[in-house]
Amino acid sequence: MSLVVVGSMAFDAIETPFGKSDRIIGGAGTYIAWCASNFTPVKQISVVGGDFPQSELDELANRKVSLEGVQIKKDEKTFFWSGRYHMDMNTRDTLDTQLNVLENFQPVVPDSYQDCEFLMLGNLVPAVQRSVIEQLKTRPKLIVMDTMNFWMEIAMDELKKTISMVDVLMVNDSEARQLSGDFSLVRAAATIMKMGPKYLIIKKGEHGALLFYEDKVFFAPALPLEDVFDPTGAGDTFAGGFIGHIARTKDISFENMKTAIIVGSAMASFCVEKFGTARLREINKADISARLDEFVQLVNFDINLV
Ligand code: AMP
Repeated sequence: MSLVVVGSMAFDAIETPFGKSDRIIGGAGTYIAWCASNFTPVKQISVVGGDFPQSELDELANRKVSLEGVQIKKDEKTFFWSGRYHMDMNTRDTLDTQLNVLENFQPVVPDSYQDCEFLMLGNLVPAVQRSVIEQLKTRPKLIVMDTMNFWMEIAMDELKKTISMVDVLMVNDSEARQLSGDFSLVRAAATIMKMGPKYLIIKKGEHGALLFYEDKVFFAPALPLEDVFDPTGAGDTFAGGFIGHIARTKDISFENMKTAIIVGSAMASFCVEKFGTARLREINKADISARLDEFVQLVNFDINLV
């Protein structure tokens, strides 16, 4: 039984008010794999061009990330994304999106991935995400999906078809408003859950994340950090922590999802401490459990109303 991850593998160029990166390794699938592999082995589905460094693939393979489902298109270029953050480090403008290999990507799910119990659909073309669900002969126990405004703008109908097939949808607050057409996040959540997902996670950057299920809501804060260097990939890292915890514990109850969003928040807090995937490459199990303890301290309080 396994965790299958689908998502972009990319080159990114990032500008923040405090610095600028050259072309560095990024992509939703990359961040998810680096993060989730701390908790459980990962079977990756993606596509890269001939320009993607083999050493990057080797490093992932060394972390028990299976790359049988990653296609390498030798004569094409890897997906490229570039973004610039505003002063608040919470909002950003996309400067450039070059789909390249993603344009005609047709994922092929290897036979060895058919034991998929947990499926994480990271940010990618919605039709590609759906194709992976359709290729699996047995429906996974839990399908989690992330997406972004880019797909709402160019492929809303396709996106809604994929959303109707998943159990958990993750979006940020502005995407929840865009998808539902409602400013109130509580009403937006109700509208989005009618589109199919039983659970909805709304990420609010440095203001934490909300988990909606039926008429219940749970809130996980983000760790207040002295310095945020680069928020790129925080959402994907959050997704990797969330699904990594669920896949490790094999428990899809609402109670365990609450823990999973704390794990996701803790992992995302590492991601933003350095540019790109740099911080995720450094951390070990001890760092992760120390950070989880900080979260417990952050939200733990007693109240006596008498
Ligand atoms: P996040 O900061 O969590 O929203 O994720 C940023 C990552 O998403 C970057 O590393 C990009 O390479 C990747 N990304 C940006 N736009 C897209 C897109 N349209 N499709 C797939 N991945 C994307």
